[in-house]
Amino acid sequence: MTPTRRTFLTFAALTVPVASGLLALPGTAQGAVGDLPDYLPIPPSSMGPALNSDGYYVGQIKGNLYWVTDSFYQSMFLTTREGVVVVDAPPTIGRNLQRAIDEVTKTSGKPSKVTHLVYSHSHADHIGAATIFGADVERVAHRETGRLLRETHDPNRPLPTITFDDHYTLRVGGELLQLDYHGPNHSADNIFIYAPKQETLMLVDVLFPGWVPFKQFGISQEIPNWVRMHDVALSYPWRTLVGGHLGRLGTRADATLQKDYVTDLRVNADAAIAGLDPAPYLAKYGPTGNAWAIFKSYLDAATRQASDAVIAKYAGKLAAVDVFTFDNQFTMLESLRTDGGHLGPFGIHQ
Ligand SMILES: [Zn+2]
Repeated sequence: MTPTRRTFLTFAALTVPVASGLLALPGTAQGAVGDLPDYLPIPPSSMGPALNSDGYYVGQIKGNLYWVTDSFYQSMFLTTREGVVVVDAPPTIGRNLQRAIDEVTKTSGKPSKVTHLVYSHSHADHIGAATIFGADVERVAHRETGRLLRETHDPNRPLPTITFDDHYTLRVGGELLQLDYHGPNHSADNIFIYAPKQETLMLVDVLFPGWVPFKQFGISQEIPNWVRMHDVALSYPWRTLVGGHLGRLGTRADATLQKDYVTDLRVNADAAIAGLDPAPYLAKYGPTGNAWAIFKSYLDAATRQASDAVIAKYAGKLAAVDVFTFDNQFTMLESLRTDGGHLGPFGIHQ
């Protein structure tokens, strides 16, 4: 490929062929690269389609529904006779989003102008390119997204023009998206975007098809509810899932596999809290008065003990299981302690 200005200056590191599984990091010192850890190979089934020379892939999901990826983030769009409805505008995809829409509508003959933009939630990494479609776009979001964005004052994330509390049906040019709020989960405002005719659910930062979740369950805020969202997601009759991250779409088998992984993290965290003796950590750091060192060494040991078995079980089944399972296990362990009240040796003093 001939690198163009837009690919090279913006995301040179992201536009290498996805199938290689390798990221070229131009300008990184050789010595620093040599010091970096090696990880298990990524299962080929976790990889998405190769990107084009502009650094994106656009594919039809079903009917007038399409998805776009740069192999790190994902967006979804619905073409209609009146204009395009886009869900999320991740900055890394950026202006490639309109290029993808133009590519599709040039063939279909439908209008390429984006008239509606749905925000899955307020986080900048998913909607931070919202301004590329201009000011006269209807922006649809949960009421809480509007509140969070009013506090943030980010010029790249303009306020929604339409907000809702529990459910909203967005109808444009004969097409329909059902927006549902099921309470705080990944963030306080994260919603479900369901396209019934296309049997597709977009749920961002909850399900990560083919991969373990990003660190700390995708840096999620309400862990018990984030866990519960697996069942809520599976209660919709979808066949295709748009997870908002990485390079491919999801299936129901992907959702079930992640649910199993999360369940295993919970079971192993329970066992570690119940079984790990904190005596060595108290003996080592107690006399120094370093309370944080006691907790860190105890929690790290419990997390390591719990996560090793999960890493072994899902190696080769979920990509990057050795990259983020320790962090995910820690989040599960802390949630069991603080949300669940399962405090083990740090329970009620007798
Ligand atoms: Zn997020």
